[in-house]
Formats: sequence, structure tokens, C-alpha cells
Amino acid sequence: MGAKLLDGERVAAEVRAEVRDRVERLRAAGVRVGLGAILVGDDPASARYVEMKARDCASVEIASRVVRLGPDASQADVLAAVESLNADPEVSAFIVQLPLPRHLDPDAVLWAIDPAKDADGLHPVNLGELALGRPRVVACTPAGIVELLHRHGIVLDGAHLVVVGRGLTIGRPLSILASLPRAGLNAAVTVVHSRVRDLASIVRSADIVVAAAGSPGLVTGAMVRPGAVVVGAGTSFEGRRLLSDLADDVADVAAWVTPRIGGVGPMTRAMLLVNTVEAAERRAGRSEP
Ligand code: NAP
Repeated sequence: MGAKLLDGERVAAEVRAEVRDRVERLRAAGVRVGLGAILVGDDPASARYVEMKARDCASVEIASRVVRLGPDASQADVLAAVESLNADPEVSAFIVQLPLPRHLDPDAVLWAIDPAKDADGLHPVNLGELALGRPRVVACTPAGIVELLHRHGIVLDGAHLVVVGRGLTIGRPLSILASLPRAGLNAAVTVVHSRVRDLASIVRSADIVVAAAGSPGLVTGAMVRPGAVVVGAGTSFEGRRLLSDLADDVADVAAWVTPRIGGVGPMTRAMLLVNTVEAAERRAGRSEP
């Protein structure tokens, strides 16, 4: 392994420390910060994610509030829960844990969230603002990937970024974010997906590769230009073992690579806290420079 590691645990700890300071400053001004979550059904993985998010909140003194609904909750029940969090002054921002049980319409639920309280950055209004070039609430994983690169001194401006995957949580918003005409972004972005004919040759032309497909070992060392920066964002499971979209031999060729565990995941969680404190700052009429 020759590549240096993109250390998401370290950077996420830095980001959390900054969030904690911001929460402290708001508290001193009489503003409380809270993250809400709506959990529908009894999917153990979803329950685990919500619990993890509550722990993350506690670590930075953000209050958390979980609304739990049974697996048979109706669309009206979920919309009522969304309305209650939209109206709750103690909740600065909130998430609806996905996936929802099959009988529910996730798009209608997403639309019902107050865009100013959208902690995940996946509300159509916030995705639209991003596409219009004035990002307000950015989806946590794309924001986390950009932060991870910046804090390792990796320059996106002018670089060729190849994003593998056009999904709504990572690939699509990341491709828009990274190509925005702003210092620190300004990348030349190519998005590839399962219908692309010669994935390998496109990936090989990248300065930076972000694999966000959820296909284990999809990006191999042979597909990567020596010296490239390679981020594994997609995840899948073999039993309980977390698998990366990156094959192990990527680390023999790349200059920088994410570890299988402790790369993008901790950054995604940290950026949820950033989105929450920013929502509270906006409501309080202040914004970090
Ligand atoms: P998604 O909706 O799961 O879509 C996956 C994308 O990858 C699709 O565009 C698909 O192409 C493409 N793809 C799949 N297999 C491929 C292959 N063999 N070759 C080329 N392209 C392929 O996307 P998402 O919601 O953005 O999530 C992506 C992955 O990230 C998932 O594994 C998810 O679990 C993971 N994730 C990780 C984090 C984290 O913090 N690390 C956070 C959120 C999500 P088509 O469009 O052609 O089908």
C-alpha cells in the first residue's frame, strides 16, 4: 500500500469540535440547537442509524428528538409527524430516516419538510438551490466528501473529477456541487453509471475519483491513474462486514485513498451536525462567515 489515507475520523472530529463551538455560541445567545428524526417501522438498521445520530448530537451538545411510528403508520401519520417537527421551535432541523415502509410515498414526505429544516439536504427546494448555484443546505455525503478533500489539501479547482454513480444522495448532488463556479470547487466533472460503455478508461482519466455505486470492489487499481485521489463512498454488506466500492489494490496505485472504514461515513455524520447548527444559525439570523 503506497497511498496516504484520507482520514475521515480525524477530520470528522475536527468538524465536530467546530460545531460544538458554534452550538456553544448560540447557547450563549439564548438559542438552543436540536436535531429531530422520524423513524417509521422496525427496520433494525434504520433504528441503529437514528441511535448513532442521537449519540453524535449528544457529543456536540445538540439536543435530539426522535418521533417513532409503527410499521403500519399511514401517510397521514407520517405527514402529521413532519408537520409537528416543522412547527417545533426546539427542533432546528430534522431527518426522515429512509427507507420508509413500502406503502408510504417518500417523495410526498420529503416535500412536506420545511426546506429550512431539511437536515439531509435532500429536499427538492434545496437540491434546486444547489443546481441554481446558490447552495444552502447541501446533502451530507457530498458535502462531507468535499470537506474531506479540502482538509487534506486536495485541490478540486481545475481537476478532473470522475463520479461513479448518479444516485440522488451522492453522485448527482456531488457532481453539481463540485462543478460550481466557486473557489475550492470548479472541478471538471464526469458522471458515470451502469450504462456507460467504457467505465475503466473514463475512470483512468480522473485526477480524483469518487465511487458512489454500492458495488463492492468496482473500482480497481488497474482502473486508476497512478497518483490519483480515490474516494470510496458507496457501501454494501457481506453479512455484517462493510464493503467498499474500492478494491484493495487501489491503495497500491493511488496517491490518496479512503480506508474501508473511517473515510466517508464519519464525514456524512459530521455534516448532518453542521447542517443542523447552520439551520439554527439561520433561524437566529446569524451565519458563520
Ligand atoms: P444509488 O441510488 O444507490 O445509485 C447507485 C448508482 O451507482 C447508480 O447511478 C448506478 O447506476 C451506479 N452503479 C451501480 N453499480 C454500478 C456499476 N457496476 N457500474 C457503474 N455504475 C454503477 O446511489 P446513492 O443513493 O447515491 O448511494 C450510493 C451508495 O452510497 C450506496 O451504496 C449507499 O449505500 C452509499 N451511501 C454511503 C454513504 C456514506 O456515508 N458512506 C451515505 C449515503 C449512501 P444506474 O443509475 O445506471 O443504475
